[in-house]
Amino acid sequence: MKKTVLIIGGGPAGYVSAIRAAQLGADVTLVEKHKNLGGTCLNVGCVPSKALLQYSYYVHLLKQEFQHLGIDATLNNIHFSQMQEKKGQIVSNLTQGIAYLLKKNKIRHVHGEAKFVAEKTVEVNQEIFKSDYILLATGSKPIELPFFPIDEEHVLSSTGALALKKIPDHLMIIGAGVIGLEMGSVYRALGSKVTFIEFFDRVAPSFDEDVSKTLMEIMKQRGIEFHLKTKVVKGESNSGKVKLSCEGPDKSLFSLEGDYVLQSIGRKPNTKGLDLDKGGIQLDAKGFIQTGPDLMTSVQGVYAIGDVAVGPMLAHKASHEGIALVETLFGKPASYNLFEVPNVIYTHPEVAHVGMSEADLKAHQLPYKVGKFPFKANARGLVEHDDKGFVKVLVCKSTDRLMGAVVVCSHASEMLAMFQLAIAQKLKIQDLKHLMIAHPTLSEALVEAILNSDNESIHF
Ligand SMILES: Cc1cc2nc3c(=O)[nH]c(=O)nc-3n(C[C@H](O)[C@H](O)[C@H](O)COP(=O)(O)OP(=O)(O)OC[C@H]3O[C@@H](n4cnc5c(N)ncnc54)[C@H](O)[C@@H]3O)c2cc1C
Repeated sequence: MKKTVLIIGGGPAGYVSAIRAAQLGADVTLVEKHKNLGGTCLNVGCVPSKALLQYSYYVHLLKQEFQHLGIDATLNNIHFSQMQEKKGQIVSNLTQGIAYLLKKNKIRHVHGEAKFVAEKTVEVNQEIFKSDYILLATGSKPIELPFFPIDEEHVLSSTGALALKKIPDHLMIIGAGVIGLEMGSVYRALGSKVTFIEFFDRVAPSFDEDVSKTLMEIMKQRGIEFHLKTKVVKGESNSGKVKLSCEGPDKSLFSLEGDYVLQSIGRKPNTKGLDLDKGGIQLDAKGFIQTGPDLMTSVQGVYAIGDVAVGPMLAHKASHEGIALVETLFGKPASYNLFEVPNVIYTHPEVAHVGMSEADLKAHQLPYKVGKFPFKANARGLVEHDDKGFVKVLVCKSTDRLMGAVVVCSHASEMLAMFQLAIAQKLKIQDLKHLMIAHPTLSEALVEAILNSDNESIHF
């Protein structure tokens, strides 16, 4: 008899687990309430945001970069609707691709909202489902300021900010984390005035301080304004005008006005409507579905993966967690380490981090040495005018193992893989020092940073 697997949620956690479970011989049913598969990531997250980042970067190149090179290209108009249409086509191709993959793997796809009616018993469209294994992959949703509800008209979440029909005149962004910084980059490149209001004393507070500083300097040079150590205490939206009352670092009050505000203050696990209490499933203090290290919930045979479970809210974490879980359930050796989850800000330049940060190493009291290499000393960085960032590696002093790395440059997300492999394989820096990298490439800076951790960098 085939084992049965019921998966609730068709995002990267759910659909990837469904495919892997089917490959391993399970009889799989996937329930998704949205008309499209792919979850937040494909519909209103990773993919549409990266599309707009790429298209707006072309505008940035045309307006800012080409003139330095004597290329006289005049920007007459931005047909924003055309960009939005192209973004929509990509999303649609990808979500249809998932529907095809489910069919190919003989996965039953049920369109509807799932809820528990009893322990290990789920109802969708008045049909009852019981299964050997139930995987909860219902994702996350934006957090909104309690005193200023999101209407997706002028008071936006990332979903609304990605779907705008018009380029804002003045976009105010509450929260300078990954999503805020990405959306701010998009609209600044397209010509909006962009102002950040950030509660912490720096942007991208989950990254090391040197990263925050570099990124903020670059964004300031592009005309983006920042109010740090500042909180929004009141918001009003009337006839297309949004007014924010803010409290600055010295407690003084000031106001900002714009036509749109984006609230990017974080996301919370999405468990609404699941009737988890009827299923006997417990939440932790922060509202995530409580799981053990094996991802099992308070009920035997019911698991939680992706954004709705504890850990970084990232698509690759969601899908890897799902694959590792399913492989374990079907007797395959699988491993998955939260320290190996890469984290990227897809601004220009990008920031890509993997492993431990300096803050993590300090917190764990692990003695470490730093190797750093700036792209201003890298030929390709200079050629591509991608010379403001750096590579930083963090090496354990006692084992000489690479513990963490961050890359700040235009292709950082693509370049990070070498460091990921080194960390996952517990490589020592000696293993990387003599790697011959093609010249001239940005990747030469990766090895130079490794060399620099022992003061052996050639070009710096
Ligand atoms: C603007 C933005 C940009 C992002 N960019 C990146 C990025 O570049 N890289 C990255 O790694 N991550 C990015 N993320 C995060 C990424 O989108 C999420 O981490 C990822 O989608 C989580 O996958 P998931 O499967 O856990 O949940 P989701 O993708 O949220 O999917 C959950 C699914 O469950 C469905 N569902 C919920 N409740 C029910 C129910 N009761 N019955 C049936 N179906 C239900 C929902 O409709 C949804 O489709 C971004 C997020 C945002 C908002």
